[in-house]
Amino acid sequence: MTSPMEDPYQDLRDAVRRLCAEFPGAYWQELDRERRYPTEFVSKLTSEGWLSVLIPEQFGGSGLGLSAAIAVMEEIHRSGCNGGAAHAQMYTMGTLLRHGSDEQKAHYLPRIASGELRLQAFGVTEPTSGTDTTRIRTFARRDGDHYVVSGQKIWISRAEHSDLMVLLCRTTPREECAKPTDGMSVLLVDMREAVGNGLTIKPIRTMINHATTELFFDDLRVPAANRLGEEGKGFRYILGGMNAERILIASECIGDARFFIDKASAYAAERSVFGRPIGQNQGVQFPIARAYVQTEAAAGMVQKAASLYDAGHNPGTEANMAKMLASEASWAAADMCVQTHGGFGFAEEFDVERKFRETRLYHVAPISTNLILSHVATHVLGLPKSF
Ligand SMILES: Cc1cc2nc3c(=O)[nH]c(=O)nc-3n(C[C@H](O)[C@H](O)[C@H](O)COP(=O)(O)OP(=O)(O)OC[C@H]3O[C@@H](n4cnc5c(N)ncnc54)[C@H](O)[C@@H]3O)c2cc1C
Repeated sequence: MTSPMEDPYQDLRDAVRRLCAEFPGAYWQELDRERRYPTEFVSKLTSEGWLSVLIPEQFGGSGLGLSAAIAVMEEIHRSGCNGGAAHAQMYTMGTLLRHGSDEQKAHYLPRIASGELRLQAFGVTEPTSGTDTTRIRTFARRDGDHYVVSGQKIWISRAEHSDLMVLLCRTTPREECAKPTDGMSVLLVDMREAVGNGLTIKPIRTMINHATTELFFDDLRVPAANRLGEEGKGFRYILGGMNAERILIASECIGDARFFIDKASAYAAERSVFGRPIGQNQGVQFPIARAYVQTEAAAGMVQKAASLYDAGHNPGTEANMAKMLASEASWAAADMCVQTHGGFGFAEEFDVERKFRETRLYHVAPISTNLILSHVATHVLGLPKSF
């Protein structure tokens, strides 16, 4: 494990943990029961500047890199909190930062950094296209100085708790494009104006408290001035942001895994059965040790992906591998932690069952394990494409 002397983000980690200590398990348990959004937690993260670490200083952020951002997300998750309520701001902001015009950046970024505007929604997935993003059907038709958007999105998280949404839609039908990845564009939708004027949001109740929704677009008018970058190049813009998303989410998995390992180690040392701590039995301690080894290996790949990203590369393969390894490490640690706790692993007040449910998501979203394996098989190993 990295020693505090070697970790340039130790002060940052300590500060995030102090903030998280104000939001203990009981807070998350209550929200989970009520399926309520952690408004207080997100407001605090915003006011203390943790969600704007990636925004350059000239726009009011801290101007740090992804290596700092992953330390923030990891500590949130290691503390038993959940960054899923707020993480999108970090990676969707990147699309605006990299592809927005000077006017768009000057207008939005300082307001996002200050918390005046929440950029928490990222609209890509659709019910009929699934992972095959080039088949999205939500269409933005140009009408004078506006786009008129029609279609449907699914699993769009935090849409009810965001002022802005980065939306991917088709602006040219797939059949008319030279490549399937052409003809898509990114619009910055102002949710405050859109809801009730062509946009309807329908919450989806899920296994976890994730504030996810379905969106229905019925001739929603979006000013053409809100398009990010060039028309037709949106898929490329979104893909760049997805690498940051995968690395950040991998760091959440590492935080979850470390939460489970901390919890299991403490419980195994303290719980006494047959006249000795259960952790004295190798049948109990080896799975904890195995989870630790697996997590450290995955964390190394997450660090590598973040370092490459910070050095200006676009590490698609490393981001994918980091997300896969970290999600597998967190899920293995979650299973181990439930087993170590015996019956108490199922008790709400221990937070293990909640985190167990929460960390399962990362095998599926933001990209499923099969699709990562397919990327490695075809892009890295040169095997024939299956789709
Ligand atoms: C709680 C939650 C929050 C989410 N938040 C957002 C969000 O904010 N914004 C957003 O845009 N999306 C969001 N998503 C969507 C998420 O990114 C997708 O669910 C994910 O990418 C998988 O897509 P899908 O559900 O359409 O699965 P599908 O594409 O239908 O795939 C279903 C299964 O089949 C497998 N599969 C499909 N094709 C192949 C193949 N060719 N070979 C092998 N296996 C294959 C997949 O691996 C997967 O396991 C969220 C999802 C959830 C559950």
